[in-house]
Amino acid sequence: MDSVTVLGREASGRVVAEIRGVGQKGPYSIQYYLTPCCAADATGVSYGTGVACRACYRELPEVFGGRPDGELVTVFGDGIGLEQFRAGVAS
Ligand SMILES: [Zn+2]
Repeated sequence: MDSVTVLGREASGRVVAEIRGVGQKGPYSIQYYLTPCCAADATGVSYGTGVACRACYRELPEVFGGRPDGELVTVFGDGIGLEQFRAGVAS
């Protein structure tokens, strides 16, 4: 079962989350940006020429594609669950 943790916020304001799971080739973890529109649990879906939210499919600025590599300026504790984040605990 995959688990999603909200790690923190970059200086740019983007929120970084991480998904961890176990695939056929073993454990994996992927960091990505949460979409601002509805905190979808992944971004970067191929949609036309750009980036779209995986929850509502609205097109998003390209900055929400790709992988986070910047320092987090706000860290949500040791990382909180996606449901906590959506509930406004860390907003
Ligand atoms: Zn959305």
